[in-house]
Amino acid sequence: MGKRVYIVTGGAGFIGSNLVRFLLHNTNAEVINIDKLTYAGNLNSLREVSDNSRYHFVNADITDQKKIRSIFDKYQPDGIFNLAAESHVDRSIDGPSEFINTNIVGTYVLLDVTKSYLEKTGKSNFRFLHVSTDEVYGSLGRDGYFTEDTAYAPRSPYSASKASSDHLVRAWYHTYDLPILITNCSNNYGPYQFPEKLIPVVIIKALNEEPIPVYGDGSNIRDWLYVIDHTKALVNVMLNGQVGETYNIGGNNEKQNIEVVNLICDILDDLVPSSISSRRDLITFVKDRPGHDQRYAIDASKIENKLAWSPVESFESGIHKTVSW
Ligand code: NAD
Repeated sequence: MGKRVYIVTGGAGFIGSNLVRFLLHNTNAEVINIDKLTYAGNLNSLREVSDNSRYHFVNADITDQKKIRSIFDKYQPDGIFNLAAESHVDRSIDGPSEFINTNIVGTYVLLDVTKSYLEKTGKSNFRFLHVSTDEVYGSLGRDGYFTEDTAYAPRSPYSASKASSDHLVRAWYHTYDLPILITNCSNNYGPYQFPEKLIPVVIIKALNEEPIPVYGDGSNIRDWLYVIDHTKALVNVMLNGQVGETYNIGGNNEKQNIEVVNLICDILDDLVPSSISSRRDLITFVKDRPGHDQRYAIDASKIENKLAWSPVESFESGIHKTVSW
């Protein structure tokens, strides 16, 4: 990769911090991390790169148009990875307003600033990569997969806000020729995830030998994507993706939630001896999430065929790395 300057929004979050580290370790790019440091942002995740001369952190809210504009003017980026978001479905049910602000208004501000920046600078190789979720496609039954052509049918405040942002990004491509790319990925797991999502919650509860809450009967199915496989896909799309296109990114790892929880319990039983015979005994089924989508599954053949990306980790190898971390 030639010397590029990239903005990563939400770089202090789970996926963002993995992406920032990956860019600094594996490319010669300069990286500007724009993050508001909400409860989900943690600069400790970036300690190992904080002294890197190619890394810059700016504490800013992506809805703050003036500040975002000044960051573009100062650093003259060649691209932006937009990951800043409110990302937790349960929180979106309890309090949707931050989801509307950050996910929808924030994305609009970034699009608007990018548009005037490109009009001013005439940069032709700039890319706006918007990182979204497979949850925009709604819920699947037992069969079928989400493709890039699946109609949007979001069902939670979180997924509806992400779907709205995707629509805005596409509209800025069709209306203003903005050089955009969109990725929709499945559930990520791996190092540095905030302990409110299923996998880190289960690891911590199981380590502490506390009850492990599982929604409903645990039969909901998710496709699991190891976060490093995801960051490699994002860099690939930024460099090689075709402007205006969407790429689905999945891990080829469909699992029922209860299978995930059982596996983590078994790995911890091996790694960390406990006073109970099996950590599976800690599993406690709790009242289901309202509107809980039954199954998500990604057809990732487009990115595999067009950009020669495929996930390296199986769920078993990735979850071992995650639990060990
Ligand atoms: P995260 O919640 O761990 O991190 C989000 C980051 O954004 C935090 O550092 C937070 O401080 C920052 N942020 C929030 N509001 C902001 C604002 N207004 N201005 C600037 N920064 C702000 O999220 P994540 O799991 O790393 O997800 C990153 C992106 O990937 C999100 O857009 C999410 O929708 C998408 N995504 C995540 C998953 C997943 O499984 N984690 C799956 C599909 C898509």
